[in-house]
Amino acid sequence: MDEIKVRGRAKINLSLDVLRRREDGYHEVKMIMHQVDLYDEIILKNIEEGIILESDCEYIPTDEGNIAYKAAKLMMEQFGIEKGVHIYINKNIPVAAGLAGGSTDAAAVMIGLNELWGIGAEKEKLMKLGVALGADVPFCILGGAALSEGIGELLTPIEGINEWVVLCKPNISVSTASVYKNLDVENIEKHPDTDKMLTALGNKDLQTVVENLCNVLEPVTEKMHPIVREIKIKMMQYHAFGSLMSGSGPTVFGIYKDYSKAKSAYENLSRVYNQVYLVKTYDGRKIDT
Ligand code: ATP
Repeated sequence: MDEIKVRGRAKINLSLDVLRRREDGYHEVKMIMHQVDLYDEIILKNIEEGIILESDCEYIPTDEGNIAYKAAKLMMEQFGIEKGVHIYINKNIPVAAGLAGGSTDAAAVMIGLNELWGIGAEKEKLMKLGVALGADVPFCILGGAALSEGIGELLTPIEGINEWVVLCKPNISVSTASVYKNLDVENIEKHPDTDKMLTALGNKDLQTVVENLCNVLEPVTEKMHPIVREIKIKMMQYHAFGSLMSGSGPTVFGIYKDYSKAKSAYENLSRVYNQVYLVKTYDGRKIDT
């Protein structure tokens, strides 16, 4: 095998809680993550040596600054690989959007190179290595839906949902670091009831799931960018069953039980915003590299 294609899917947060700030500066989180079927396509090709990265997206770095580049370097070092790789990223996931676009590219590179180079490492091993690249990388390797704890490295796979999702990213970029900097961890007004959400997911009780959508970073990002709140209001006006900001934002998602309502929301939002997507949730079971 000389070439492999891997999909790196975006995620949304059905809940996001920050429990405390650790002494090392990392935040301890408790989140429910769910993949959606919006994906970057990563094409990996064997070359003699080194790492070459290209992309159709001009906003991401093509050197060591790209987390996918770092992922390839990590795989080479960890498994003593003496070949090189050409990475092409066909970018569909908006950048700096709260959808783990970079993390999922890194995860796809690790999964793909494990296959391309016949390394045969277990998923768990890749997840353990991946956390060195970013807190969301282990989840992106696992895929589907999961409870994420610690700094993102403690993952429990859970039953997901099977619904339509509209994603809308306003034309602003949000740095995750600045949102966490502005979060007053000791004085969070409303924490999500993660256990209630987990029970609801287990019972396939979508009503309770949407009633418990909660992200402690949402008020922080909304304060900096009121447009986030405006989109959420619109999403509900367009008959979303529930709506929330994903990650540190600024992307807002709406969950729709009904395709025709989702499509109409997608069309209405697309008239105003240029990064709007209509996708299904993804449970991680389909094998489609
Ligand atoms: P998260 O939800 O994990 O916080 P995000 O969706 O908010 O992630 P990314 O799309 O991962 O954010 O981008 C964050 C930053 O990382 C951007 O400034 C971007 O330039 C940089 N970056 C490096 N590599 C990539 C990549 N492969 N794809 C996207 N962004 C990348």
